[in-house]
Amino acid sequence: MGERLTGTTTVDTPEDPHVYSYRCEQCRTTWPATSRREAEAERKRHRDLVHTGGVPDGDSIQRPTRPPLPPQPPFLATPFRRAVSVTVAFGTLAIVTWFRFLA
Ligand SMILES: [Zn+2]
Repeated sequence: MGERLTGTTTVDTPEDPHVYSYRCEQCRTTWPATSRREAEAERKRHRDLVHTGGVPDGDSIQRPTRPPLPPQPPFLATPFRRAVSVTVAFGTLAIVTWFRFLA
């Protein structure tokens, strides 16, 4: 993910789901593609057939889309994390107190 889509050459990484698409804003239509190369081929075919080789305004190849990550709970939301945080806090306090007592 995160690749720039403005270049002419792109290396498809095998772990990508390859959910590219070509979008023509003039025709208000989107064509799904399994790879960047397929999307580029579709763009060329569409430009040639429908727009007689011209470049329609606003056409674009869209990057692979991935499902969004499930929402994460706030850091202290789980009981385990709360217990760890309290233990670390009291442990630190105990150590600091111990060293100050020794000094
Ligand atoms: Zn078009």
